[in-house]
Amino acid sequence: MASYHIGTKCIQSGYVPENGEPRILPIVQSTTFKYSSTEHMGRLFDLEESGYFYTRLANPTNDAVAAKIADLEGGAAAMLTSSGQAACFFAVVNLCGAGDHFVCSSTIYGGTFNLFGVSLKKLGIEVTFVPPDADEDTLQAAVRPNTKAFFGETIANPAMTVLDIEKFARVAHRNGVPLMVDNTFATPIHCRPIEWGADIVIHSTTKYMDGHATSVGGCIVDSGNFDWEANAGKFPGLTQPDPSYHGVIYTKQFGKAAFIMKGTAQIMRDYGAIPSPFNSFLLNIGLETLHLRMKRHAENAQTVAEYLSTHPKISWVRYPGLPGDSQHGLAEKYLPEGGCGVLSFGVKGGRKAAVTFMDSLKLAAIVTHVADARTSVLHPASHTHRQLSDEELETAGVSPDLIRFSVGIEDSRDIISDISNALDAV
Ligand SMILES: *Cc1c(COP(=O)(O)O)cnc(C)c1O
Repeated sequence: MASYHIGTKCIQSGYVPENGEPRILPIVQSTTFKYSSTEHMGRLFDLEESGYFYTRLANPTNDAVAAKIADLEGGAAAMLTSSGQAACFFAVVNLCGAGDHFVCSSTIYGGTFNLFGVSLKKLGIEVTFVPPDADEDTLQAAVRPNTKAFFGETIANPAMTVLDIEKFARVAHRNGVPLMVDNTFATPIHCRPIEWGADIVIHSTTKYMDGHATSVGGCIVDSGNFDWEANAGKFPGLTQPDPSYHGVIYTKQFGKAAFIMKGTAQIMRDYGAIPSPFNSFLLNIGLETLHLRMKRHAENAQTVAEYLSTHPKISWVRYPGLPGDSQHGLAEKYLPEGGCGVLSFGVKGGRKAAVTFMDSLKLAAIVTHVADARTSVLHPASHTHRQLSDEELETAGVSPDLIRFSVGIEDSRDIISDISNALDAV
């Protein structure tokens, strides 16, 4: 659907029914698929013919939703996973094995930070974290002979730093490796990293894509642009025969879909984090309104950020859409139509004032979640980081007064009056 605008793709891409078929994407809730000859099923196993045989490897509902997300991002191919964590894990292990290394922006989602820094390390995969605002020389200095990729988040959760995608892509490509970008917070509505040089795009679809807090899920999209064969020595898994798959050479047999075919045929086959077709059906319904919701999230968050920035009881506000924000320049370049609904701020009076504020909110719900239709709020010092003292919090970059606010798509006048009433109680 390359010729349609993104709002049309949200609704129409992925599933195109034939004459007499269901208008709505069917939920193919079947683990397996029937064939009438052993010979036919054999060809499927050899990847000689495409067709469904087991849902862990491919399922029509999951495939249609993956194709929609690939189209939204401007990619060549995509695969769904059962969570955003699985998507990050699979994307990295599709290129890296024990003894390999990759470079990653230090301001990434806490779960990904642990996955990369702790769990992958146990598997023998090393990561070097670099500040997102590091200059090219600093990024270059992190590269080793065994470096296989660069990784960052378009809008980091929850640090709200905006990735200079072109800078990271330049250094990655100069070293013959791809750039992977987690685009969860921006979504393809507000930034398409592939257009700025990213090679692989990752999503936790749990957030804005689903948008209604119903289903945990993830997605990996390949641009199809990275030339694996030109850097064949670094990527034998893609350019040499796969002994676990009848000696298939992914780049030779699948061209621009090589990364996703290897991710499906080998990584998904072996690690198995497949989404339920039912969850993919729900995700697809979320995607149908993504363009409308993202516009509203960004507008509402901008309104809330501007309101907070002049309120006498607020000590600071972090939102890339505010002209005074340290990330504003990067946001103007990469997010010209707006960012997302998440912002953070401090209430004067520290931890105690923050708790009073939180407990006085009526519309905004206290939940461990961000980026869905309902306004939600979290106080890291009382929740995700509650085991830390005030001093330890400062070292972790989380001040005791920090409130993380995920602005929903309600009427912004009601969100503002909820905040205003809660601040009156402080
Ligand atoms: C939530 C999140 C993840 C992890 O996704 P899950 O779906 O919760 O497994 C990864 N990256 C980012 C940026 C996230 O916000």
